[in-house]
Amino acid sequence: MKIMIGYPALQGKGSPMLTQNRQFQWMSIGSYIYPLVMASAATVLSKKGHDVIWYDGIAEQLPSSHFFKEVDSVRPDLLVIETKTPVVKLHWTIIDHIKEIDPAIKVVLLGDHVTALPEESLERSKVDFVLTGGDYDFSLMAMVDALSGLRAMPPGIYYRKADDIENTGRFRLSGDLDALPFIDRQLTKAHLYFEKWKKRQPFRYTMAGRDCQWGKCSFCSWTTLYPRFRVRSVDSLLDEIEMLVQDFGVREIFDDTGNFPAGSWLRKFCNGMIERGLNEQVLFSCNMRFDFLVKEPGLLDLMKKAGFRKMKSGLESANQATLDRIRKNILVEHITEGCRLASEAGLDIQLTVMVGYPWETRSDAERTLDLARDLMAKGHAEMLQSTVVVPYPGTPLFKEAIENNWIRFSPVDSWERYDMTEPVLKTPDMSPEEVMRLCSDIYKSFITPRFVLRQLTNIRSLEDLDYVMRGAKAVLGHIFDFARIRS
Ligand code: SF4
Repeated sequence: MKIMIGYPALQGKGSPMLTQNRQFQWMSIGSYIYPLVMASAATVLSKKGHDVIWYDGIAEQLPSSHFFKEVDSVRPDLLVIETKTPVVKLHWTIIDHIKEIDPAIKVVLLGDHVTALPEESLERSKVDFVLTGGDYDFSLMAMVDALSGLRAMPPGIYYRKADDIENTGRFRLSGDLDALPFIDRQLTKAHLYFEKWKKRQPFRYTMAGRDCQWGKCSFCSWTTLYPRFRVRSVDSLLDEIEMLVQDFGVREIFDDTGNFPAGSWLRKFCNGMIERGLNEQVLFSCNMRFDFLVKEPGLLDLMKKAGFRKMKSGLESANQATLDRIRKNILVEHITEGCRLASEAGLDIQLTVMVGYPWETRSDAERTLDLARDLMAKGHAEMLQSTVVVPYPGTPLFKEAIENNWIRFSPVDSWERYDMTEPVLKTPDMSPEEVMRLCSDIYKSFITPRFVLRQLTNIRSLEDLDYVMRGAKAVLGHIFDFARIRS
């Protein structure tokens, strides 16, 4: 079967942070995050003998018209598109246009939005199948087998039958992650993808688990895709890193698991990196919570020795009541203590703060921003990014927002407004403009003479200089993004 995995360029307000990202934003300066699970799906299908075409018009910065020309020329049997709430309407239009080009092309839509609302896309576009759940590789493989007459349709598929919408029941996350082949990074053009903060080239992504062992935060869109956590074996990830280093000369890796696994798994991973000498060859970064780090003395030093460089973590609020309410299950003091300990161990901390909770006042939000600035000023965090709380369909926060009438506009007719260019949720004593201003001011506030001096004194090589220059460009890009939104 000829199968195209497609990320068509989207006409919007910048470069869409679509895949892998647990929140959506349009960015003026792109990081192009590698769609790891889709890349795994492409790999599995290709290994099964299918003709797989990887098309990413976003990462390749192609004009949107290019996608239609490509589809017209390739004429795939199956076209697979990953979507998110703010762009689902754009994808419906694209799908309908594909059907005008060739009605025989079967189109599959997947992602957290359609997992939450599978029937909607079948009702409002000409899409043929909606695949729910986050195991795109296992599910697509089973679905393609079913379309080839080799088995029955797997659970979690929505489709049309005459004038009705049928489904095969609730999706299951039962695939063994260790049974998957390593991602074919040539087929899926892994060289296109990077994060703005990368220090070394070649830079590649891995994924240790799906997706987060805490997995309960009420706002997190990926809990919709992965209601239960699974992790690869330590040896499987170490073997993949070794392969990336030996076969592709990779010198920096970001693991995009929602939260990198903790506990004995992490210790075993660190020891494996050291025993295999990978710590000398590759810098390793990941998403991570800090609460368990605070409780395990010596672990941060081991991580540093194992090659860990940067950890991205959430400072969703400095208000304990909010952390409890969003089910983050963490103490504010564990976040601040974790930042201190990690930075003292020589790790870089990138914090994401969130503003615009429907129960937080201006002074609550300012307390969060003040704490973030304080951590930056003390050198306990290296970079900050700010986001506005968005209640994506499928999350407990979305349900709560509907029940409490917190959404500022018609909730289900306005998906394009969930794109973080404005608050979706009402706030008690702030206008939408104030929420956006708070979000953008954080980028200006931490650029103090002390911060600039610290960045300059950290420059030890041309790679460091390049890193600082790109960081400055990224911060200016964020300021520009929010200024553009407000103008
Ligand atoms: S800690 Fe919360 S926000 Fe982060 S990946 Fe896990 S569930 Fe999502």
